[in-house]
Amino acid sequence: MIGVIGGTFDPIHFGHLRPALEIAEQFQLDQLRFIPSAKPPHRWQPVADAEHRLNMVKLAIADTHGFIVDDREYHREGSSYTVDTLRSLRADLNADKSSESILMILGQDAFQSFREWHEWQNILTLAHIVVSSRPGYQFNNESWMKGRVRKQISDLHREQAGGIYFCEVTQLDISATTIRKQILAGKSSRYLLPQSVEAYINKHQLYKANKADKAN
Ligand code: ATP
Repeated sequence: MIGVIGGTFDPIHFGHLRPALEIAEQFQLDQLRFIPSAKPPHRWQPVADAEHRLNMVKLAIADTHGFIVDDREYHREGSSYTVDTLRSLRADLNADKSSESILMILGQDAFQSFREWHEWQNILTLAHIVVSSRPGYQFNNESWMKGRVRKQISDLHREQAGGIYFCEVTQLDISATTIRKQILAGKSSRYLLPQSVEAYINKHQLYKANKADKAN
């Protein structure tokens, strides 16, 4: 089983990394692909340039066995739609004659707006979703999920896609928005993200000025 975790990673932090590792271990993933969004469609545009965000992800996961950076969204024009990313990943797996299932990791906050995503129904034909707990958000089992919620990890291993699994992970109340605000206010980001990422942010003076300042 292959895991994928998408995000703006602006910047990547321990709130992404620790839950990802716990899920990779619980599901015994063969690999977990971190897929930074070059041009996210669902939200305001990221603060750091796409190249910097990609480099920070590379630094953050460099030493972790099974964690891989996947930059396929950087090679497509226009908005980075998850459904297109999963289609292209599935095409790669088919080319390798692999029928492995894909597990897409989503934080509870992101999952709440999942049905607003482009072609969300098709996403569920391509991957399972594991919803990871996040401080301040509740797991809600809603009627549209009927027949999709799986209680056993083994159920997801048996199917290629379409299941939803709620997963309790260590609660880390860290968000990229808060980190950016702290850096802008001249505070340290230490112990919220890997030291290599902190050094990269310092070296490139990221988040030290807000976007409006940068444009002037
Ligand atoms: P921002 O604060 O700018 O919204 P973020 O910290 O939520 O950013 P994203 O790159 O938007 O980071 O998130 C990527 C994925 O990681 C999303 O699915 C999100 O729900 C999840 N995630 C982010 N932070 C946490 C956390 N602290 N605990 C659990 N999941 C998280």
